[in-house]
This record gives sequence, C-alpha cells and structure tokens, in this order.
Amino acid sequence: MKRFIIIGNSAAGVAAAEEIRKIDNSSEIVIVSDEKGNAYSKCLLTYYIMGKISRSQLEFKDTGFYEKNNIKLVSGIKAVSINRKDKKIVLENKEDISYHKLLIATGSSAKVQNISGQKEGAAYTLRVIEDADKIAEKLKTVDSAAVLGAGLIGMKIAHMLKEKGKKVFIIARSNQILSQMLDAESAGFLTGHIGKEATVLTGQDVSEILYSNSKMAGLRLLNNEKIDCGMVITAKGVTPNTELARAAGLVVDKGISVDETMKTSDNDIYAAGDVAESTDLLSGKKEIKALWTTAVEQGKIAARNMARLDSAEQAGQEIIYAGAVSMNSMECFSIPCISAGSMHGETTEVFDYRKPGQAVLRRIFVKDNRIFGFVTIGDIRFAGILNRLLCEKKDISSIKNVFNSAKLTRANLLECIGEQGIISSMEKQ
Ligand SMILES: Cc1cc2nc3c(=O)[nH]c(=O)nc-3n(C[C@H](O)[C@H](O)[C@H](O)COP(=O)(O)OP(=O)(O)OC[C@H]3O[C@@H](n4cnc5c(N)ncnc54)[C@H](O)[C@@H]3O)c2cc1C
Repeated sequence: MKRFIIIGNSAAGVAAAEEIRKIDNSSEIVIVSDEKGNAYSKCLLTYYIMGKISRSQLEFKDTGFYEKNNIKLVSGIKAVSINRKDKKIVLENKEDISYHKLLIATGSSAKVQNISGQKEGAAYTLRVIEDADKIAEKLKTVDSAAVLGAGLIGMKIAHMLKEKGKKVFIIARSNQILSQMLDAESAGFLTGHIGKEATVLTGQDVSEILYSNSKMAGLRLLNNEKIDCGMVITAKGVTPNTELARAAGLVVDKGISVDETMKTSDNDIYAAGDVAESTDLLSGKKEIKALWTTAVEQGKIAARNMARLDSAEQAGQEIIYAGAVSMNSMECFSIPCISAGSMHGETTEVFDYRKPGQAVLRRIFVKDNRIFGFVTIGDIRFAGILNRLLCEKKDISSIKNVFNSAKLTRANLLECIGEQGIISSMEKQ
C-alpha cells in the first residue's frame, strides 16, 4: 500500500492530508508532529492568552478529524532525518517509516534575540501553545511589558498585553510599525490612532535588560533611555525549519526551494507553508510568505500533485501554484486593517481617502491603470474586491477618479471586473 508522510501538523500539513484523502481513499496517510495533540491555530494564540478562547477552541478541525479521514497522527515525536535513498524518515526514537511521497511542512520558529543581561524568566517568544502558557503565567506577575518588533505578530501581542490591562511598549528597529504590511504614511496614521493604547518607539532597539533585586525592572534602549517593564516578548520575525531538508541534501535557500508544483529538488519530496520559498505574484521573486492562508493553499497544491501524479495518464497534469500576493489582515488594537500587494517603488499614483476625525484610511497604489497595492484601515469593506482587481490585473482607469473620495462603491469596483450587471440583478431580487 502507498504511504504518504507529512511532517508537520499545522496549516500546511493538515490541509495537505485532507486534500490527499479527497483524491485517494485507500493509501495510508501519516502525519508526524513534534507537538503533542491535535492541530491548532497559531493565529489565535494571542486570543487564547487573553482568555477569549479555550485550548479546545484553538483547534481548527472538528473532533475526530483524523479518525474520520483515516489519517494516522504520530504526535509528540520529532522527525530527525530523511533517508532519501531508501525513502524513509527517521524519528527521534530511532524508528523509521517508509514513504511513497513525503511532504515537509515543518513551518518556522520564532527568531530569538539574545539581549545583554538576559536571565531566565525575563524574555519570551510566542510561536507555540507552550509559549502562550508561559506568557500567560508570567503576565500574572507584571504590570507592564515590552514587545520587540512591530510586525503582524508583534502588534497582535501588543494588543493582547493591552487587553490584559498591562502598560505596553512597542519597540521597532524600523522607522515604522508593520513595515511588511503598510507604507510609511499608513503606518504613521495607524500609530497616531493607537498611541493612547501603547507607547510606540520606532527606530529603536534594546541594548540591555535591567534588574532590581534580581527581578526584571526594565530595558535600556540603544539611545540609553530606560523604560520600566517586567517582561519582554520578542517578535522579530521567523526562521524556517529547514534543518531536515538541508541535512538530506535538498536545495535550500532562505526556505526549501520548490517548483510551481511545490516539489523540492527530490521528485518524491514536496514542501509547503512557512518552510517553503514561494513566488510573489507581483514581483515574481522567491520569498517566504509566512502566512496561514498561503500555507493552506500550498499544502493543498502539494497534496494534489503528490496524490495524482503517479500514473502515466496523469503525467503533465500538474497543479500549478501561481504564487501569492502578500495580503495581510489583522485587528490592530481593535482597528481592522487589510493590505495587499506592493506599496513601494513600482507605483506612480497613490489615491488617498480619509474620514475626518475617524480611524479610517484607504490608500490605493496604481501603475499603468492597474492596482499594485492597497491599504484599508478602519473600514475594510472593499478589501476583498480591491484584492481581486489587483490579482486579476484589471484596468481600473474608468473608476480611479473616485478612488480618493467617499463616492467609491462596491458597484463601481465590480464594474471593472465585469460583474456589475450580475450584482445589480441579484440586489433587485
Ligand atoms: C502568534 C501568531 C499569530 C499569527 N497570526 C497570523 C495571522 O493573523 N495571519 C496569518 O496569516 N498568519 C499568522 N501567523 C502565522 C501563521 O500561523 C503561520 O504562517 C502558519 O502557522 C504556518 O503554517 P505551517 O503549517 O507552514 O507551519 P507551522 O504552523 O509552523 O507548523 C509546523 C509544525 O511542524 C512541526 N515540526 C517542525 N519540525 C518538525 C520535525 N522535525 N518533526 C516533527 N514535527 C516538526 C512544528 O512543531 C509545528 O507544529 C501567526 C503566527 C503566530 C505565532
């Protein structure tokens, strides 16, 4: 019997297992994970720390998912090597399991910053549920906390800290918050609106952790300024877990190199999710997206190719991963924000719309009558359709004159896609 092995029981791995089962109901599917228990959403970890959801509510599949889909979950054990010659993976208890096709969906780990003076119990990162439990425990003992890094995860952590009633410092080395997600103008606008909730220090970093009676008392910044806080959480990006692939001699750059079918340099091994380098739809460059939705989509594509491409009649019928546009969505201190595409460089026109006195901003970046990027803050109603116009590279020349006004409507956006007629008749019903 054929056996598919998936290393990693999260967004990419679970999506892949489910997809393989849809196509192939007889082969064996084994998921190996070094984390114990069922898969859960990392995106919701800050809400778990806030106490808004329980451990079981973090799980994104129904109880019985593995049994129902006849997927064997080998959890709480690490895969330590891949023997490509014999097509086997080796687990840390020295057991080996042979595969017909293998998917590496090992994700990424939080980057750790070693701060001068760091002692046990002062500095934290948030990637897995154990980290969340440790942070929740520590929060019982402190009144204020600092977050290093102001990306999507850093801002979610800062929001969580505020919700837990702590005094919050956000320290970013870059000159703006959310530098991967927002242009400088939008970031400045958002910072202005969250300024009451947290102290945002941009263009800064930490030089030392300070203690008083062996208890963390604060941080010294690069400019020598001191801030008082009882703990620090680092959120300065992630490192893809490529060790297994590298040791097995697969081609690895920043992440595992894959072709558009998500296949690695070995015909029987695929990779998907945070560990894989994918193509940016706009720039065509290889990069790691490190987003949940990208991991799910890549896992599904890898799965379809792994499960379907065995027979001669299906040769050449690969499912292609066209690449992704960087689309980010988050609630930044309760202000919804969605951005996508490019906000730097390629654009020649920027259309800016703000609602006076409100935390509402829309910026649309246009070149050659095509949307290259957009930011919506506070009012995110049009984000879905703007993203579609961007991905489908539609000509928006007929409506761009209303991009910077309140006159922009869903109907005139749909006009550019050619669906206005359909929507109008649906609305009449
Ligand atoms: C706090 C937080 C908030 C986030 N918020 C968002 C958000 O709002 N939106 C968004 O799009 N993304 C968000 N993300 C990112 C998102 O969670 C990741 O992009 C996604 O989890 C990637 O999925 P993955 O399957 O590739 O890998 P991962 O989720 O990293 O899972 C990989 C799994 O493989 C296991 N593993 C690794 N090596 C081995 C091995 N050798 N043997 C066995 N098992 C192994 C790991 O332990 C892990 O369980 C957030 C992440 C965090 C931490």
